Amino acid sequence: MKVGIIGAGFTGLSAGYYLTKEGHDVTIFDRDGVPGGLAIGFQEKNWEWSLEKHYHHWFTNDRSILSLARELNYKVFITRPKTSVYVDGKFFQLDSPLNVLQFPRLPIFDRIRMAFVLGLMRYNPFWKPLEKIRAVDFLPKVMGKRAYEKLWEPLFINKFGDRRHDISLAWFWARVRKRTPSLAYPQGGFLKFANHLANRIKKQKGKIFLNTEVISVESDKETKINIKRNLEIKSIKFDKILVTLPTFFFLKLAKNLPGDYVKRLSKLEGFGAINLVMRLDRKFLNDNTYWLNICDKNSPVMAVVEHTNFMNSKYYDREHVVYVANYFLPNDPHFKMTDNELLKECDPYLKKINSKYRENLISYSVFRTPFAQPLIPMNYSKMIPPIETPLKNVYLSNIQQVYPWDRGTNYSVENGREVAKMMMNLV
Ligand SMILES: Cc1cc2nc3c(=O)[nH]c(=O)nc-3n(C[C@H](O)[C@H](O)[C@H](O)COP(=O)(O)OP(=O)(O)OC[C@H]3O[C@@H](n4cnc5c(N)ncnc54)[C@H](O)[C@@H]3O)c2cc1C
Repeated sequence: MKVGIIGAGFTGLSAGYYLTKEGHDVTIFDRDGVPGGLAIGFQEKNWEWSLEKHYHHWFTNDRSILSLARELNYKVFITRPKTSVYVDGKFFQLDSPLNVLQFPRLPIFDRIRMAFVLGLMRYNPFWKPLEKIRAVDFLPKVMGKRAYEKLWEPLFINKFGDRRHDISLAWFWARVRKRTPSLAYPQGGFLKFANHLANRIKKQKGKIFLNTEVISVESDKETKINIKRNLEIKSIKFDKILVTLPTFFFLKLAKNLPGDYVKRLSKLEGFGAINLVMRLDRKFLNDNTYWLNICDKNSPVMAVVEHTNFMNSKYYDREHVVYVANYFLPNDPHFKMTDNELLKECDPYLKKINSKYRENLISYSVFRTPFAQPLIPMNYSKMIPPIETPLKNVYLSNIQQVYPWDRGTNYSVENGREVAKMMMNLV
């Protein structure tokens, strides 16, 4: 079978891997110059490892991607980094039930209540009834207003802004249930892992065309992908096509989709992300916190993630690498701001956390993506885009089909494997 795959992110690469393993003739196209998609990495000249443009790690229960790494003989590091919250201008480690019970900014009764609700989320396997409930309605009622307002409301505001009212409790459930105290990371970074997977696909006789933009997909008399490469436009025929782009982009690429399908799928929304990555010659979070949630609804920063408090700074020429992370709706004016304007906006807040950081700043870069996180409203299970599209032999497998879990490369591997089976008529 001759298969064309659009996107060399982890969904496209995984599908390509499983299809070529079974001897199918696969060609993958990506408009970017390197594989990896949203988990794409970059590497400074003096670094041994690459770094993701947007912070990435795996949970130790991300079984699909961890077993793929094992299958590919790829080394994965597992450590237990520290997760903390920044509340009332102070740091508190908050990554275990004991920490919750010891959290000094709430009365003991509120801590017990919060621990109970988090336990309920973690040990309850039934997510379906939760998707009928709004997270921001349920949490203050059950966990108590004080705990909600101190810790969770600022996080909802900083991540989802006004759209927090749409988020279903199933999304919150997934975040709590799936999180593991220890985290995993591929040796050399996600870019190296993506390249390793890409090389395996090539070994299995697959082809990968980078810097190649797909401009449209057709499935009338023939199933075709139209590409633009080096200013040249070309049409290539396939037996089957797999699209791995977010749904909105698929709707733009595909010709002759029925109106009701377009209308239904156009309702799916998502948030973009902006990550400002700082290279410093000293630590930013001196208490060794890897992930710092900013529990302040007036903060211009959602979270600070010090990658080198997770992976050793020796892989980055002893530099300390820190993400200043934010999510915004794709039409938010922040996407039009320059790198300097973005740093200027965050700077007073960053100085509150580490007053001397500017003296230690080697350089910074800003990475933006218009689609980073699907918006998961109530009853999302009824909105998930189907894998089979109205176009014959054209399949869709993307980040918006990941549910009830929150998006992640682990599910890209799972989805890639499932869609590959479907294309081979194995399910
Ligand atoms: C801020 C942030 C933090 C995250 N944190 C984590 C984490 O800690 N752990 C984790 O596992 N996951 C994390 N994720 C999620 C993870 O990156 C995604 O779930 C996963 O990479 C999605 O893979 P995909 O292949 O489905 O889609 P994508 O990665 O989006 O791949 C789609 C590919 O299609 C290409 N493309 C788009 N349009 C065209 C076109 N017209 N022609 C050709 N190619 C095209 C793109 O260049 C891209 O490579 C994070 C994501 C973000 C943004």
